[in-house]
Amino acid sequence: MDDLYQEIIMDHSRNPKNFGTIDKPDSLNEAINPLCGDSIKIYLTFENNKIANIKFQSEGCAISKASASLMTELLLDKDFHTATSTINEFHKMVTENEKDDPNEEILGDTIVLSNISKYPNRIKCATMCWHAVKESLETHKNN
Ligand code: ZN
Repeated sequence: MDDLYQEIIMDHSRNPKNFGTIDKPDSLNEAINPLCGDSIKIYLTFENNKIANIKFQSEGCAISKASASLMTELLLDKDFHTATSTINEFHKMVTENEKDDPNEEILGDTIVLSNISKYPNRIKCATMCWHAVKESLETHKNN
């Protein structure tokens, strides 16, 4: 299982989905992880309280890129409420070692990152892009 997960992660880091920019995004958020040297920009547009489009640009390690690629696939078209609970569920999966099997129905392919919880110094690589989206959603909701 670990090998399969590893392969999916490498594939997403080599051929990331939704990689690029959006002209005139409703939200643009940047996150950096100085520990690893990762930096990421997340572009979002919203329509009817949904994530209508999401793209990212990043420099850094395979984990940070793969996590952003998997995340954008999962969060595209989600409404604010579902997106926020999905982000919280992902955060739980990668920070709680003893958690039961991750909820694949909510987390989809991002469960390939569940093993990150065993490597505390890599957790930020996987979570930084999710934090950036959460911040964007919170800011947008209050506008
Ligand atoms: Zn990293």
